[in-house]
Amino acid sequence: MNTFLKQFQKSLNNVFTNSLISSHIREILSQPTNEIIFNFPVKLSDNSVKIFKGYRIQHNNILGPYKGGLRFHQDVNLDEVKALASLMTIKCALQDIPFGGAKGGIQLNPHEYNKYDLELITRGYTRAINNYIGGDYDIPAPDVGTNAEIMDWILDEYNLINNKDEKSVITGKSPECGGSLGRKEATGRGLGVILNEVVKDLDNVTIKLEGFGNVGYHIVDYLNTLDKNFMINTISDHTGYYKIDYDDLELYKLNNFISYLLQYQRDHGSLKNIEKFSFKISKIDKEEYLKTYSDVFIPAALELSIKENEANILNVKNILEGANGPLSDSAEKMLLSRDINIYPDILCNSGGVLVSYYEWVQNNTNQIWTKEDVNRRLDKQMLDCYHKITKSKNNKYRNECYKYSIEKINEIYQKRKSYLFRL
Ligand code: NAD
Repeated sequence: MNTFLKQFQKSLNNVFTNSLISSHIREILSQPTNEIIFNFPVKLSDNSVKIFKGYRIQHNNILGPYKGGLRFHQDVNLDEVKALASLMTIKCALQDIPFGGAKGGIQLNPHEYNKYDLELITRGYTRAINNYIGGDYDIPAPDVGTNAEIMDWILDEYNLINNKDEKSVITGKSPECGGSLGRKEATGRGLGVILNEVVKDLDNVTIKLEGFGNVGYHIVDYLNTLDKNFMINTISDHTGYYKIDYDDLELYKLNNFISYLLQYQRDHGSLKNIEKFSFKISKIDKEEYLKTYSDVFIPAALELSIKENEANILNVKNILEGANGPLSDSAEKMLLSRDINIYPDILCNSGGVLVSYYEWVQNNTNQIWTKEDVNRRLDKQMLDCYHKITKSKNNKYRNECYKYSIEKINEIYQKRKSYLFRL
């Protein structure tokens, strides 16, 4: 079992220690209901035929249809997808939305393929999972390495095969194909809304950001619309670690470094060489990146980026997890013992699945909500969820989130009694 999956099991077990919840529920949630793995052939544009390994893990659907993203990444593997699917069950229950948890993916590096081949691979994957998805059964969405364009191809292939017009089979589509306005920005915006609440007593807020992709970009983009002074003083992506001199706040604001970062990312797709274009930005090593003080650290790249070595020198007051599972278990213990507040992934990055739910509702009722309407609902639901979890005096927020979700799932199993008959 890989570390990420072990961590999920641990978080699950923590809730059952000294709890009256039936141990049947722990048994049910400790394994996914369905593990679908397939090797599918694709004829690529150079006429070669390649076999790809695809996954779809359906963890639990007592709350509603399975729901979860699709990841295209070279490290995708069974345990990782199982852990991510399990987190989705807890996340949907936490946000009180009527979905269960799932996750899927293809083991491939999307940067190694041209767009035409990526479309062929995506359509091949869709044909392989065709019998296992559907708007009232399992609804995929974007994750690392996938985007609205890929969701549009899945929508198209699924409806061609089945001779249907079922938009709700997938979320995170482009608005032209039935996607919700505000979906692309939702995960980042949702985290930004919580962040703004966490630091409401501070005038100026320094931020250390890890990862500047879909989630990271939209966090920064949202913070840039607020009146408060948010200053990114350290930032990293796969090209390295960077520091922005913010000693002179007036100069920082005057130069609007945040807008500059956003523009650079839009133009170049990464932060590569940014230090060559501004004398206030320098490339630094990982140690300096971690040791530079920031009020808030936002990991928004991949899982397990902060282990003991990193936690030992990480100089921050608050951590808001944009990525799924960025902290190892021992790193989390070290950070909590130093009184660092940790706001977990299932809370902070749940804006994406919330707006996916809004998209599914719009598709099923033939409505199109305005962006203002979507954002208003998202902001309120994120804040309500934040307050329901942090009202407890206990600052172990991850445990509070798991407890809320598992108690809710338990209640439904007890009322329906289905676990006695389904197993
Ligand atoms: P993405 O592929 O768009 O971006 C990932 C970013 O991480 C890129 O900027 C990349 O350069 C950076 N990165 C990669 N390796 C790095 C490293 N070693 N150090 C620093 N940065 C590195 O992915 P995304 O959609 O933004 O997802 C990021 C995380 O958020 C993932 O854990 C994902 O599961 C989670 N998440 C995403 C969504 C969503 O709606 N996209 C929703 C919920 C959770």
